[in-house]
Amino acid sequence: MTESHDDHLEQDEVSQAGESGFSPSAEMTPGQLAEAKELGRRELRVSLLGRGVDLVYFVIAAVWIAASNSPFAEWLTQISTSQTIQLVLLALMLLVGDFLVSLPLSFYGGHLLQHQYQLSAQSFGQWLWRKIKGLVLELCFGLVLVLALYWTIWTAHGWWWLVAAAGFFLLSIVLGQLAPVLILPIFYKVERMDGTDPQGKELSQRFSELTSGTGLSVEGIFKMQLSAETSKANAMLTGLGRTRRVILGDTLLGQFSLDEISVIFAHEVGHHVHRHIRKMILFGGVYSLLAFFLCDAVLRAWLPGESVNYAELPVCLLPLLLLTIHLFSTLLEPLQNGLSRHFERQADRFALESTNDREAYLSAFSKLAVQNKDDPDPHRLEVVLFHSHPPIAERLAMARS
Ligand SMILES: [Zn+2]
Repeated sequence: MTESHDDHLEQDEVSQAGESGFSPSAEMTPGQLAEAKELGRRELRVSLLGRGVDLVYFVIAAVWIAASNSPFAEWLTQISTSQTIQLVLLALMLLVGDFLVSLPLSFYGGHLLQHQYQLSAQSFGQWLWRKIKGLVLELCFGLVLVLALYWTIWTAHGWWWLVAAAGFFLLSIVLGQLAPVLILPIFYKVERMDGTDPQGKELSQRFSELTSGTGLSVEGIFKMQLSAETSKANAMLTGLGRTRRVILGDTLLGQFSLDEISVIFAHEVGHHVHRHIRKMILFGGVYSLLAFFLCDAVLRAWLPGESVNYAELPVCLLPLLLLTIHLFSTLLEPLQNGLSRHFERQADRFALESTNDREAYLSAFSKLAVQNKDDPDPHRLEVVLFHSHPPIAERLAMARS
């Protein structure tokens, strides 16, 4: 469930990938390259292990709680006869449980490993506080979604999956608008860049040239404080309508030349011009329709008898629904990543054409790889399965061809 929230924030990170076709070593020293490759391997291992832990957790929860003779159902009815209260309790336990079983790996990958490779400036307390804020947000969203899901099943019966998908689609549009103004500020300090500081002045001049005719306003350029916790450079396009904005990390603004910043900004404008956020939301709509339809098929297969009594669907089937959604999104992740990489390539091409500055493009992406310690050229299978951005080697080769 966490994954789908993130997806629907529709943020773009320009920087998640590796580097160079002018042989990586031309930009990265052999030592840096080896370090980036080693970090990449470790992060892959952590991520694979994390997926395994999640899967085992949801399978156990589904088998143990959703089984017809589960003692858990009995225990829930003893606590309250209200289905809604049972549902809230069960959802809270499942979400907090998932948080706790994934905490050790999250601590290793998100904190220890980042420090080991000098990428993080966060103290343990800051890291933990961020995790707690994330958990609270997840619990709020999770509870609303679970209650809405069951309420839909109880009232819309056989057509619940269609109603739920429509509701989810509308919610993702609302979230798309609210994410940059409500959710992002919970985690990061984000402020509008004004023309008062010299860099802001010069940048806004260049930015207005790049955005002219695209419908994106330069008023929507924001700076995000990342340097307090990471040395990684980052940028994103986020929001819908009036909340549409480009956000540049202070780690990027501080380390990159004006030309390089302009290329990265132009990449974000490319996402805007190609309407990628809108397309991702549309894709998410189709995706949720398929996921809920699959859930319905699983319910019909799981429950004995001719037809499912939707009006009295037991609360204890929740882990089975969550497992189905989890499996579905895991299986579809490569497809989603493929689409994302396609969008990234379009944005890269836009950046190159609109700035017409190949030198700055090459140096910006080489610099990103070095600063973020990104493996420039990871294994093809890893890219296909797990990467939302093309490897930097590929992004640089594109500019040179
Ligand atoms: Zn991008």
